[in-house]
Amino acid sequence: MLNKRDIKYIVVHCSDTPNNEKIGAKEIHKMHLSFGWDGIGYHKVINRNGIIENGRPEYWVGAHVKGKNDLSLGVCLIGRNKFTKNQYESLEQILIYWKSVYDNVKIVGHRDIVKTDKTCPNFDVNEWCIKRGIY
Ligand SMILES: [Zn+2]
Repeated sequence: MLNKRDIKYIVVHCSDTPNNEKIGAKEIHKMHLSFGWDGIGYHKVINRNGIIENGRPEYWVGAHVKGKNDLSLGVCLIGRNKFTKNQYESLEQILIYWKSVYDNVKIVGHRDIVKTDKTCPNFDVNEWCIKRGIY
């Protein structure tokens, strides 16, 4: 179980699938099951058209960032390195909502919170948040 007060980070991810591939939470769920996980590891997924889908419930520890799952929520943008205007708008919505629910959470990109070879989510989340006025 994930307690509200345990959540210190919101971690932004990308699915690292081709930008023109219109997949969603269902496909991610299948992919993560195939890794032997308990289904989708993210709490929210943002489709190419900006539709927000639910993944794991927020009280359930995610599987998206090694070593920090018990401290964080994960949101995944579908795509690799070019996201749509609608996706960014939905991301902003989710981040503002989560910041209103969870006190003092820090918004980070996957690559910025743990030592990893991954470049996920392939953009500078901190810089993007500052530009959007989310902090
Ligand atoms: Zn990631």
